[in-house]
Amino acid sequence: MLVFSKQPMILQVSVFTMLTPFKISRHRVPKLKTSNSNLLKFLEMPYSIIPDIFINNFKEGCYMERKYQVVIIGAGHAGCEASLVCARMGLKTLVLTLNVDSIARMPCNPAIGGIAKGQMVREIDAIGGEMGQITDRAGLQFKMLNSSRGPAVWSPRAQCDKELYSVLMSKSLQNQSDLEILQSEATSLIVKNGKVCGVKILTGETINADAVVVTTGTFLNGAIHLGKMHFDGGRFNERPASYLSISLAKDCGLKLGRFKTTTTPRINTLSIDYSKMTEQLGDEKPKPFSHFTEIKQWRATLKQLPCWLTYTNTCTHKIVEDNLGLSSINIGEVNSKSPRYCPAIEEKIERYPEKTSHHIFVEPEGYNTNEVYLNGLYTGLPFDLQQKMINSIAGLEDAKVIRYGYAIEYDYSSPLQIKKSLETKTVENLFLGGQINGTTGYEEAASQGFVAGVNAGLKVLGKAPLILGRNESYVGILIDDITTKGVDEPYRMFTSRAEYRLSIRNDNADLRLMDIGRSIGLISDKAYEKFELYRNTLADVYENNTDNLPTDKELSPWSFERINEEIFIHKKYEGYIEIQDRMANKMKKNEDRKIPEDFDYSKVDSFSSETKQRLMEVRPQTIGQASRIHAVKPSDIAILTIYLEKRKREESKKL
Ligand SMILES: Cc1cc2nc3c(=O)[nH]c(=O)nc-3n(C[C@H](O)[C@H](O)[C@H](O)COP(=O)(O)OP(=O)(O)OC[C@H]3O[C@@H](n4cnc5c(N)ncnc54)[C@H](O)[C@@H]3O)c2cc1C
Repeated sequence: MLVFSKQPMILQVSVFTMLTPFKISRHRVPKLKTSNSNLLKFLEMPYSIIPDIFINNFKEGCYMERKYQVVIIGAGHAGCEASLVCARMGLKTLVLTLNVDSIARMPCNPAIGGIAKGQMVREIDAIGGEMGQITDRAGLQFKMLNSSRGPAVWSPRAQCDKELYSVLMSKSLQNQSDLEILQSEATSLIVKNGKVCGVKILTGETINADAVVVTTGTFLNGAIHLGKMHFDGGRFNERPASYLSISLAKDCGLKLGRFKTTTTPRINTLSIDYSKMTEQLGDEKPKPFSHFTEIKQWRATLKQLPCWLTYTNTCTHKIVEDNLGLSSINIGEVNSKSPRYCPAIEEKIERYPEKTSHHIFVEPEGYNTNEVYLNGLYTGLPFDLQQKMINSIAGLEDAKVIRYGYAIEYDYSSPLQIKKSLETKTVENLFLGGQINGTTGYEEAASQGFVAGVNAGLKVLGKAPLILGRNESYVGILIDDITTKGVDEPYRMFTSRAEYRLSIRNDNADLRLMDIGRSIGLISDKAYEKFELYRNTLADVYENNTDNLPTDKELSPWSFERINEEIFIHKKYEGYIEIQDRMANKMKKNEDRKIPEDFDYSKVDSFSSETKQRLMEVRPQTIGQASRIHAVKPSDIAILTIYLEKRKREESKKL
């Protein structure tokens, strides 16, 4: 079999998964009736400095009106990808943010990638995303996780300089033609005849738009908890978005729920005794995230910093156990669900009472700061107990806290209300991406922001949406999972969620996806020429056609190092990869069989009422997706197939 064809591989697959129920929780929303109350609320805001012009606008009602093709609400990891991609598709784009100084901020660990997350960063990079390129420039330690295991789970991760990452992403946005940035709060969406046509912002302006992408992260009615202290905030020292939830619910008919997450305290590196910890170095031959980074030059200039490992102990656990009742995680004031796989130390100690210690990775936050992140010590304990808990850990006996950890609660929208294109089912041309869809993590957010941006752009241009398959990408798996099963806790990606993970490795993201990026116009002529040279050289080397091979310089930013790695993996795992490809092809049929959007499940008598309810809730786009819905049985799929065939026959008779 020719493994490296000069054509892109196309596979389709399907899996059977569970539907998780969506709980609608009560959420706090302020009353917003008139522009006067709007102004009052604005004046009360603790972090706002109000330019006179805004106040005059309110007084005199001299609102400006402007028009963009796409408006993105939010400049976090999702919003940055969405706005860059729309502008790169040539669309007049505006990105709104509450705070221009916190574009692409990493409020938790400043690390990009990790298990399965690194694969997603490589995937969006291959289609034309930004996160990988910025990570290569802002990373201070690069590691291939799981490198002692098989290539299916090799996952790149980079510890980043937090400030530098934010500055570089901000610069990318500022330098992008067709993209404007505006610091203001989106207060409501304007919806006419079931279609979004603009955004109202706090200054009183109306911004008209053909499509809107909402990427509001943890800001919607954000509430911060630190022990018994509770205050409003989208992140520490940043005000929440207090109005948009009302509009999402009232004007757009979306059901909102509440999730929560926690972060760790940051301490001063000078107060740490590193001699009591184990040093964790970056890779000797680090690999960049982006396909477009010139490896040799990059490695030559990269200055990697070490991370360190220490552990909690019985004394730490006793401090936590004795004070569980004081934590905002446990006293019932944060009732919403937190990410199961990123638990607070309080949750870990409660969940695993038999464990006498947990890992704490001590990780630098930047080249120009003394702040160090305590990975594993997420907490909602009061600040005095945080200090006590930290000082019980080896090497941290004299550690001084610079920032305390805290918990945050926010509104999210059930992803069962969006299609695979990330367009809402309730309002046309309205797209949602990132944490607002009930996911957690920068990479999950960036991937959705990218897809939502691409699809908003394609919709405005009158083109078909980009739907990535489960077989071809982790990004496709993420979107299929959340839109098919919904979420009942913040969703994060894992390699175990992929059924064909040997086919969708981090190393072959370009071979899987760069043609897609090219077809959307996101990969330049020059970059694509280089990619084609790489793909063809790979095929030649694989077939031992080694005459007239290009030099490494000609291949750059690809390289013979990459080619050799690709060939090594394929030769070693050829049999397994072939089996996975065959299985994926078998399932492709179901993924290709579309279900018309207006299909009336209530008319199928043979369905149980639960099956009808689930199918009507998810409104699957393909037979494959329908088969993955919890409570939909193989017999239901057989019936559905017969109904679709019948409908097709009837329709063709009419023609
Ligand atoms: C305290 C804390 C702890 C976290 N811990 C973890 C963790 O342990 N692991 C993990 O994977 N992830 C964690 N996260 C989540 C991670 O930060 C998010 O997953 C990621 O940042 C989401 O990206 P996003 O683009 O969806 O939203 P965000 O990065 O939150 O960005 C939202 C953007 O929207 C803007 N915005 C919001 N509302 C409006 C409005 N109405 N008008 C204009 N602009 C608006 C904001 O200004 C901001 O620019 C944590 C987050 C916080 C705050």
